[in-house]
Amino acid sequence: MSGRITIAGLGPGSEEMVTPQVASAIAEASDIIGYIPYVARISEREGLRLHPSDNRVETERASHAFELAAGGAKVVIVSSGDPGVFAMAAAVFEVMEHASAPHRAIEVEVLPGITAMLAAAAACGAPLGHDFCCINLSDNLKPFSVIEKRVQLACEADFAMAFYNPRSKSRPQGFASVLELLKSSCEPERLMIFARAVSTADQQIKIVALKDTTADMADMRTVVLVGSSQTRRFSTPHQDYVFTPRSLPKP
Ligand code: SAH
Repeated sequence: MSGRITIAGLGPGSEEMVTPQVASAIAEASDIIGYIPYVARISEREGLRLHPSDNRVETERASHAFELAAGGAKVVIVSSGDPGVFAMAAAVFEVMEHASAPHRAIEVEVLPGITAMLAAAAACGAPLGHDFCCINLSDNLKPFSVIEKRVQLACEADFAMAFYNPRSKSRPQGFASVLELLKSSCEPERLMIFARAVSTADQQIKIVALKDTTADMADMRTVVLVGSSQTRRFSTPHQDYVFTPRSLPKP
């Protein structure tokens, strides 16, 4: 009996943002593997085994998936948002690259999901409407100096930016340093968006000029968007919109 591994993105939180493709994979699964809060989003049913695990054990989780699939299981590894964005898909391929021949013969498929920055951008208009980049501010897997360099160069290149994992209790200082760096490189009115728990009942969107930002505006449920020099804001009776036009002003 041949098993398989599907790595699926559950989207930012709302069930309406789970793609039909991901919903079908979950309906056909025998085993669900993932970080505790993501596995908690899966409804229990007969014949479905849930394997929630703690944070920072991505490699163990991926190896577990190969063991189960080798025994014939239809394993779905769940991530929030998109599984290829700071999530489980790369961890699975890191393990698979060096796996035994039987494990490398297992079929692995990645199903995309709506990533946090796109749900956040949609909630306030089109702040990522021109060129942008996306940076993970966690220094668990890379030195903080690399994060600073990437943010600095993104400012110089005038990208809009999306920051994932901006600030956790274990590293409160990092985001404060990134804000200082932005304040020294960009104009004070540069628009920033703090989008928390997007698409859930707790959703909060704050649009703030860079000069008025403080580090405590972000936590681990927040994705932070930074506009480019061209990003603009206007208000209507419905809401405040932020967008980045598709072209640069003519010289
Ligand atoms: N794979 C996920 C990202 C995982 S990293 C994705 O594609 O969205 C976890 C980080 O994602 C969080 O620290 C936060 O920055 C961001 N994030 C995930 N879900 C979010 C949501 N609903 N609202 C705001 N930010 C979110």
